[in-house]
Amino acid sequence: MADTRLYEVLGVSRNASDSEIRKNYRKLAKEYHPDKNPAAGDKFKEISFAYEVLTDPQKREIYDRYGLKGLQEGDTGPGADDIFSHFFGGGGPFGGLFGGFGGGGLRHGPRRGPKKGENTVHRLKVSLEDLYNGKVSKLQLSKNTICTACGGEGGPPGALHPCQTCNGRGIKVTITQLGPGMVQQMQSRCPSCDGEGEVINERDRCQACLGRKVVQQTKLLEVQVDKGMRDEQRITFHGEGDQMPGVEPGDVIIVLQEKPHDVFQRSGTDLMMKKTVTLTEALCGFTTVVDHLDGRKIVVNHPPGSVLVPGCVRGIVGEGMPIYKNPFEKGDLYIRIEVDFPENYFAPEGKLKELESLLGGRPPAEEIPADSEEVNMSEYDGNGGPGSHRGQCYDEDDEHPHMGGQHVQCAHQ
Ligand SMILES: [Zn+2]
Ligand SMILES: [Zn+2]
Repeated sequence: MADTRLYEVLGVSRNASDSEIRKNYRKLAKEYHPDKNPAAGDKFKEISFAYEVLTDPQKREIYDRYGLKGLQEGDTGPGADDIFSHFFGGGGPFGGLFGGFGGGGLRHGPRRGPKKGENTVHRLKVSLEDLYNGKVSKLQLSKNTICTACGGEGGPPGALHPCQTCNGRGIKVTITQLGPGMVQQMQSRCPSCDGEGEVINERDRCQACLGRKVVQQTKLLEVQVDKGMRDEQRITFHGEGDQMPGVEPGDVIIVLQEKPHDVFQRSGTDLMMKKTVTLTEALCGFTTVVDHLDGRKIVVNHPPGSVLVPGCVRGIVGEGMPIYKNPFEKGDLYIRIEVDFPENYFAPEGKLKELESLLGGRPPAEEIPADSEEVNMSEYDGNGGPGSHRGQCYDEDDEHPHMGGQHVQCAHQ
């Protein structure tokens, strides 16, 4: 969808000629000039900005192609930051008209004031114990800070001059002919000035920062991991990102990464664990001790008299994770019971009958019809047929002919 809002500001169509644009601009600029019409607020700024873009063939091309975003990423002439923050800010009478921009990526909130730097995102691995108990993690970060020796100027006053490669715009525009009537326009950061638009002669460069205006510093951040925080939860340190002259530093965002736990799996505020019991314990009850995440040992008791079937789940209220910002409340702990059946069970002579009667006896025996045939059950491991070579796989180029002309396809898992 083409962005035509700058044309709308000047009240012209998208294919308006240069002279039309100039004519409408003069008319509107007179009408909305702050001296004449102080109530119009930023309207004059918008008109001037639209005029500035649409009368510059290169800027107009970029705007037609990429919209305001394209201009913002590349060419930001003097004062352009202001107007962008106004256009992207969403406030004022143009809030609706210029809404839908900004807030992209990691930027938060409306853009106001100076241009804001990129946010820095760090991942911090935390154990489930840390998320249960809370913890302060110290994180050492290296970041750019404004050079104190030159005050972020890169050199003595007057040392800076506009880059000749890009005429101070900071961007390089390359137009490639793709085919008849088709051109591709690419804009990239100017390599001579690294997108700054300004350069400093080597002999003038500040000794401390070598003309880069910023120096690297290490900073220790104390990350407060609160009880009940979750995987992927973000902790923001406002303005702790890289510093650059004229740019409001971005934020440092710490994203928590919950490490898998040997015993517990977390599901929101609940915890889930597995417990394998023997058949005897499943039938006759058991008591077990669970080491909880805060070091407590909790005694879990399953009384005899109620059978635990394999895969059943039992819950313990209030032994889950603490609830974030309300850590005295906790979720629940669920225990999934696995039953370990005995591999081979040979009851002593006569005891099997006793076991049968203890387990409630057998259902009445099925009637066996006279014309039935008896077959054998053998072990089956899920791959191929039960103990038969019919399930074996043959490679396509196998030299042995397929038995009975039947093609056996191998289903790999
Ligand atoms: Zn310096
Ligand atoms: Zn340049």
